[in-house]
Parts: sequence; C-alpha cells; structure tokens
Amino acid sequence: MTPKYKRVLLKLSGEALAGSQGHGIDFDTVMDICRPVKTLRDMGCEVAIVVGGGNFWRGRSSGKMDRTRADHMGMLATVINALGVADGLEQLGLSVRVQTAIAMQEVAEPYIRNRAVRHLEKGRVIVFGCGTGNPFFSTDTGAALRAAEIEADIILKATMVDGVYDSDPKKNPEAKRYEELTFMEVLNQNLGVMDMTAASFCKDRGIPWLVFSIEDPENIVRAVSGEAVGTLVK
Ligand code: UDP
Repeated sequence: MTPKYKRVLLKLSGEALAGSQGHGIDFDTVMDICRPVKTLRDMGCEVAIVVGGGNFWRGRSSGKMDRTRADHMGMLATVINALGVADGLEQLGLSVRVQTAIAMQEVAEPYIRNRAVRHLEKGRVIVFGCGTGNPFFSTDTGAALRAAEIEADIILKATMVDGVYDSDPKKNPEAKRYEELTFMEVLNQNLGVMDMTAASFCKDRGIPWLVFSIEDPENIVRAVSGEAVGTLVK
C-alpha cells in the first residue's frame, strides 16, 4: 500500500492512552496504538508523534495553583506518556527516539530540529515530549510547531471523537459531521477541534489536520492510506 503522505505528525491526546480506566496509562491500549504506527513505517511513511498529558494533568484544570508551575507539571506528564509510547513502539521492533522540549538528558534527547529530521530520514520514529516547552500552550500547538519545523505533510489528530460536528453529537442526535472544514471556519465558529493558537498557526503555515477517532486505532492506517476518515481541516 502506498501512503498518501510521506511524513506525518501524529498527535495523540493523553486520554487516548488511558483506555477504559480514563486516566494514567493502559499499556494494552498503548500497544493497540503502536501497532498501526508500525504499519505506517512498513508502508514507508515517516512518523513523528506528539503526545498530550491530559490523562495525568492539565495545567488549565489546576485550580488555585500558579499556572506556570501547573503547566510545567503538565509538560512533565507528556514525558511520561512519550516514554510509554516509545516503549510500546520498541517492543514492536521499531527504532525510536524521544526528544523533549525541556532538557532532561538522562531521560531523553533534547529537541534539536535537524537531529529530529535526520532520525526520520533514517526511519526512526520520534516521540516529542513537553509540547512547545512553554507554559500557557498546549500539545496541539506543540504538534503544529513541530509539524512546521520538520515539514510534515499533515497532522493526524487521533482523538476520542470521530471528527468535527456542527453541534455536540452526544447531546444532539441530528448533529452532522463535517468531511472538510477551513481553519477560518474553525476559528470563526470557535469549534473545539483543536486549540485556537494551533488553528491560527496552521492556517498561516498551510498545514492540514485530519481529525479522527482513535477508538479504532486502525483509523491511523486508513488516514494515511487516503481513506475517508474523520474531518479534514485545511
Ligand atoms: N503544556 C504546556 N505547554 C505546552 C504543551 C503542554 O504547558 O506547550 C502543559 C499544559 O499544562 C497542558 C498539559 O501540558 O494542559 C498537557 O497537555 P495537553 O492539555 O495539550 O494534553 P492533551 O489534552 O492533548 O492530553
């Protein structure tokens, strides 16, 4: 099977790694996600992954804590996930590197753009931790930034919903799923599909997002094969 995209950036929300328990890491779920990533490699697709941290901690939900500190905690949570995903990928025989935007060199490589690109060219999967490395941002924006830097063809956002709807499908059974949207529509209608900073950045950089459900992890392969899954935002 020929991949539709040569180089992809897969954004995994922390929640996607939690399985049915809803928080923390469920390693069986991690393996379910790693298997299709291996298929992408077998298809010849270069894969970089940005992981979220919401299964452990989100700075914006930290209540009375100082936001900067709370966001530092959130970024550390993304590193736990990055290491878990890296382990799963290695168990499948893939060559993997973790790079973090906040240096912790005993644990992972620091993020170095040229090195990241070299890893991809050599067929290694990269897992990026710490998002952008700055508080007040999200891992969606981290994904957007890394995708621009490594010149990914698309961001694959694997989430808990199967695309973008005109209203909440859980509340409205008539809700319609969009097949395609523009970033302008996402921004104007404040659609919660990705954060607005990421949407605005990708609009300017011309980096498309494909948003689809990770409940069936094979969707990752379908997305890269060009099958119609989820919602394309461009
Ligand atoms: N975070 C941050 N800067 C970034 C990326 C993430 O401060 O560039 C922190 C922030 O506290 C965020 C947490 O890390 O709430 C986890 O990331 P995110 O909420 O994006 O995870 P997801 O919802 O995708 O699991």
